[in-house]
This record gives sequence, C-alpha cells and structure tokens, in this order.
Amino acid sequence: MAFGWIDEQAEQRRRAGLVRTLRPRPADSPLLDLASNDYLGLAHHPEVVEGAADAARTWGGGSTGSRLVTGTTELHAQLERELAEFCGFEAALVFSSGYAANLAAVTTLAPHGSLVVSDAGNHASLIDGCRLARGATQVVGHADPDGVRKALRTHDGQAVVVSDSVFSVDGDAAPVGALAQACREFGAGLLLDDAHGLGVLGDGGRGAPYAAGLAGSEDVVVTVTLSKSLGSQGGAVLGPARVIDHLVNAARTFIFDTGLAPAAAGAALAALTLLRREPERAARARAVASELHTRLTAAGLEAVRPDAAVVSVRAPSPEAAVQWAADCRTAGLAVGCFRPPSVPDGISRLRLTARADLSGAEIERAVRVIGETRP
Ligand code: PMP
Repeated sequence: MAFGWIDEQAEQRRRAGLVRTLRPRPADSPLLDLASNDYLGLAHHPEVVEGAADAARTWGGGSTGSRLVTGTTELHAQLERELAEFCGFEAALVFSSGYAANLAAVTTLAPHGSLVVSDAGNHASLIDGCRLARGATQVVGHADPDGVRKALRTHDGQAVVVSDSVFSVDGDAAPVGALAQACREFGAGLLLDDAHGLGVLGDGGRGAPYAAGLAGSEDVVVTVTLSKSLGSQGGAVLGPARVIDHLVNAARTFIFDTGLAPAAAGAALAALTLLRREPERAARARAVASELHTRLTAAGLEAVRPDAAVVSVRAPSPEAAVQWAADCRTAGLAVGCFRPPSVPDGISRLRLTARADLSGAEIERAVRVIGETRP
C-alpha cells in the first residue's frame, strides 16, 4: 500500500500521546478565550465585521485572480498605503497570509550566493523561507547579536539577517536594535517578522520596528500578519519601495497566488482605522500581559516575562502540557498548548493570549483555573 508508512507514524504519535485533532469551535463557545491571536479583541468588533461585509458586497466573495491579473482591487491598494503609513514604511505589499509574506520576503531577499542568518527560535514560515531560498542559511543562537556578527564575518557578499521581532512560543522580544547595529556593521539587510508586534508594541501598536526607531530604514524589511491584532486574515511585507517593487516582480507566493479576499482586506482596513482612533488598545494588551504574568508568578507558576501579548507558562513534559490544556478546557478556559514537534524537544508550554479586552475578573479566573489544574 503506497501510503502504508503513514500508519506507523500515526501509531508512534498515539503511543507518545501527541496526536493532533481538529476541534471545530462553535459560534457561541462558552470558553474563556486565552488561546486565540485576537490580541486586541477586534475580530468581532462591529466595525471590523462591517468592513468585511461591505467589502464583500462591493468586490465579491473572492478577489477573482492573482494580484498581477484581476486580484488587485482599489481596496488592496488602499490597505497597502494605510499599512505602510501606519507602520512608518515607504511601501507595503499584501499577501494572502503572513506565511506567504514570509516565504516571499526570505526567498527574494536571499538570492543565489547570498547568506541568510536565521535565529534558532524563528517561526516555521521563516524557516521554510530559508529552505526555499537560493542563498545559504546559517542558523544562529536565539536572540544573539554576537552570534549574528560571527555568522556575517564568515561571508563575503550579500547577507540578510532574519528574526521574529516577538517570538511566538515564549513571547520574548528579539534584540532588534542590536540586530540592526550588527547588520549595519556588515552592510547586511534586516528582515523582521512583526506578526506578534503589530498592534501591541510601539506607539499605538505601530509595531516593534517602529518602537526601535527602525521604521522607514533603507536596510530594514518587515513582515506582518493581518490575522492577529487586526482580527482579519492575510499578511504583508513593508519596506523601501525598491524592495516592494522587486517582490511584485520576483516573489512566487505573490505572483502565483490568488489575491487576498476583499472581505479580509476590508476587515483589516477597519481594524487599522480603529487602531488609529483608539491607540490605547495596544497599551491595554501589554498591561493585561503584565498582569497575567504577575498573577501566574505569584501563584507559583513558571511564566516567561512577556514583551508583548503572549504569555508562556512552562509545563514539565509534552504529555503534561496536553493534559493541562485539556483540564483547563474542561474548567471552561481555552489556552494554547505548544509541544514538540511544533517546538524543540524539551520545551512544552501553555501559551496564553493577553487580549486587550479581558476584564480583571476574567484574568483572575484564568489564573485560578491554570493554578488549580497544574500538573
Ligand atoms: N509569523 C509568525 C511569527 C507567526 O506566529 C505566524 C502565525 N502563526 C505567521 C508568521 C504566519 O502568519 P499567518 O497566520 O498570517 O499565515
């Protein structure tokens, strides 16, 4: 049987208690949500929902084609202008997902003969970008600007340093200022994935690069997702117009992919309007994260100090993490559960989202449930 080997792998997963299953979420879920990436609580905001509905009414259910054929509507152009302006970059290009944006950015910025220096904790989409790139990849230690320098020293030619600005598992921030400095010393480019920074870090949520004074730099390119703080779906690359024009001409996940659905563009535009009008949402998400961390620590739990809206709680083993998340669910709390192979061996976590719209009572309840169900 051609695919018989799959049964063996499935059996190994079953034995290790690491089988993944899909659990459809009902529209009226009774669970307290600390698992989603809806950091600012905007996915259900009436203006965001109306932005999506209005865009679908005007432009249809789909974008109808690839961006270079029929898939670029005026809405896409407006979203690109507004995203670039909000985050402080010259230009932006919207993709159907953050994953596609990362594949595009890494592959086009790392041509044959170049070097990609990649943080060991980078998101899977950046890692896959490295795998697809024609340039060589050197993986360096986590958040290690000196490691980056050492790697850049070994290479004579074009280089790009690639890092999450906020890491998705532990919620810690990259030393973006120090990385930018290391890049300057060697004439290398810097590519930052700000999926978890946009909407949370920087003035009014303008992102980690903006907070570090790197917005608009000639040597910095940033990717974002529209699917977390903006409560929509899709991704974007932000940077100098020269880079964005190059992506339009060379990035395969741009050229050969259908344009972002109008509803997603409309929702993201409405969310951007909200961020500009209510800049306090970003600070509120950071405050909730800080409060969650303080309370978890006070309850004797091992939580990583958050730099953005992700709060990570250490679990003793992958099996314990799975059981812990399941027990939380039984007690009415949805939390994320990260374990191998999504994260390196030896690292298992509950991953909590500090949504800006969580109340004090909800934070208290979440911490109580996590404490009561601890392994
Ligand atoms: N980068 C990071 C750091 C992420 O956490 C994610 C989403 N999990 C992505 C990129 C991919 O973005 P999207 O979900 O829009 O494809």
